[in-house]
Amino acid sequence: MKKIGFVGLGNMGGPMAANLVKAGFEVTGYDLAADNLDRAAKAGIRPAASLAEAVQAAEAVVTMLPAGAHVRAVYQNEGGILGAVPRGALLIDSSTIDVASARVVASAAQEAGMDMLDAPVSGGTGGAEAGTLTFMVGGSDTAFERAGPILQAMGKTVVHAGGAGNGQAAKICNNMILGISMIGVSEAFALAEKLGLDHQRLFDISSKSSGQCWSLTSYCPVPGPVPTSPANRGYQPGFTAAMMLKDLKLAQEAAAESGASTPLGAEAAQLYNLFCAQGKDRQDFSAIINMLRGA
Ligand code: NAD
Repeated sequence: MKKIGFVGLGNMGGPMAANLVKAGFEVTGYDLAADNLDRAAKAGIRPAASLAEAVQAAEAVVTMLPAGAHVRAVYQNEGGILGAVPRGALLIDSSTIDVASARVVASAAQEAGMDMLDAPVSGGTGGAEAGTLTFMVGGSDTAFERAGPILQAMGKTVVHAGGAGNGQAAKICNNMILGISMIGVSEAFALAEKLGLDHQRLFDISSKSSGQCWSLTSYCPVPGPVPTSPANRGYQPGFTAAMMLKDLKLAQEAAAESGASTPLGAEAAQLYNLFCAQGKDRQDFSAIINMLRGA
């Protein structure tokens, strides 16, 4: 499989498509935004004038779009991918979207004779550029095997999470843990400040104790203990609070649809909603510590 159609050449899709070119794939790309298409052309991607043109000769298609509505439209609308792509092509959606949309589109693809995977990523724009993304993949064993060389050209870790929609399920469950744990770690530092306990001392103790978690040891929300964390550069993202809110809302939608009880996930979504409504949506999500301090 050499010929790839890539749809959605934004902050993530642009560098992901560029890594496919570097790995020797022939990539034809499409995006609604002309400047993204121009940037992609400079990275060796052949720009297409329409969605259909981007996929009509493709052996595989990768999409990297904002949300479920965009993914449903791009695949299923008149002139969309399912009608334009050659039969038997492999379809990979790497957008972060709701589980229900992922399953609906995968089943429409199957009816049209195509294998489809949901393959959302973690690792952010840095991982997209460096080709070190983690892919969480839902779909059949055969489709997962076929996708290997494509996903490995854009990422470092590729995990099969089960059938259609399970990649999205893994992504939102993981990010719900992340949102909740970041709030927990932030509250602990805010309390420590009130109690006169030094940041570094709390870090040294908790990072070796039962409070240890990624939000503390890799992404600490106060400056100092983890020099690479966004707290050390004025909370420039990183991973924006808006993105965290999007994923927490997806988790809440999925919880409501499946009947799961996620009270802390709901609270985390509320707190990030409040934070974003204060105009902080472009800050890194770890900046929520400032709101919890009352700052
Ligand atoms: P983005 O807005 O930069 O890119 C999306 C692109 O899709 C845009 O260029 C837009 O013009 C294009 N687009 C929208 N509708 C289209 C259509 N009908 N046809 C063609 N192109 C269309 O967003 P992004 O940051 O690249 O994120 C993409 C996805 O990746 C999202 O689902 C996001 O949640 C997920 N994600 C992002 C990050 C991150 O750090 N940015 C990390 C992990 C996952």
